[in-house]
Amino acid sequence: AEYSGADATVQATNDSSIVSKASTAAAGYFEDPFVGHVAIRGPKGRLIRRSPLVHRCYYVRHLGVFQMQETFLRSCISPGDAYNVVVLGAGFDTGALRRGWPHGLRGYFEVDFPAVLQRKEALLKQAQVLRPDWLHSCGADLRDTSEVEASLRCAGVDFMVPTLLIAEVVLAYMENSEGDELIAWVAKAFRNCLFGVYEQIGPHDSFGRFMRKHFSQRQCPLRALLANPDLECQKIRFRAFDRVDAADMMSILAAAPVDELKRAFQLEAFDEFEEFHLKCVHYFCLAAISGTCTRARRQWQV
Ligand code: SAM
Repeated sequence: AEYSGADATVQATNDSSIVSKASTAAAGYFEDPFVGHVAIRGPKGRLIRRSPLVHRCYYVRHLGVFQMQETFLRSCISPGDAYNVVVLGAGFDTGALRRGWPHGLRGYFEVDFPAVLQRKEALLKQAQVLRPDWLHSCGADLRDTSEVEASLRCAGVDFMVPTLLIAEVVLAYMENSEGDELIAWVAKAFRNCLFGVYEQIGPHDSFGRFMRKHFSQRQCPLRALLANPDLECQKIRFRAFDRVDAADMMSILAAAPVDELKRAFQLEAFDEFEEFHLKCVHYFCLAAISGTCTRARRQWQV
């Protein structure tokens, strides 16, 4: 095992994400020249190949996160304005390197457990990927907001400039109260921000009722899900922000350019439409917006 201690299981969720991202990129769904360098490899050092269903789900996730980034870059800042990007629970995500960040970027701050970020740095160094000087590694436990704040301050974050924050499948791995505390801290610390979240909606059907009845939050690996069984519950968690827009991934998919979807959907033979639909309605994007960033277009409303 690469990680040890009480948080090893949560840290290892990154390894699984990054394998899926690398497999989806290799299958042609989106371009990412860096993800192959950090993905955990299979036998003989080969990339591990995921199923077409996983590829489609990660493609939709990519579309959602990309759209949240675009919303911020196109309508929360004007060309040349200073801005930050802060990624909470960044894991081995390569967003910092992959996309061109427009002029004005003060800093791109990745927050995760130190053990995860150290491994990422070592893998990128081994692959001789040049690290831009605006990319900062901020080791901290997201359950301790004063530690997160200290780590960001130390790396030079300016809390007043418009900031894009992203949490991609991170809050689900924290206790509900810890996630709520992190959300409240973001709202207080970043007065001009767009906090983009990609998460699951908890099961609210008979399966959800069964889980809630028989398992404590601790026993359920995706603990916070059970406490937030629908999109409205999720939106309430972000009530300290000036505005909250949210949509499930079926809506995000429906809003994507048809030509792009046609390109992606002909890449592989596929017949698991029911499962794909189920996944799309169980995941969502949410943008919690404050201060000067509220001029963002309302493209997240269903
Ligand atoms: N956001 C990345 C992505 O989409 O590729 C990684 C997602 S992975 C499922 C969850 C990440 O959240 C892991 O890297 C894990 O270490 C991080 N994480 C979860 N709880 C955390 C905590 N309390 N403090 C710091 N990082 C945490």
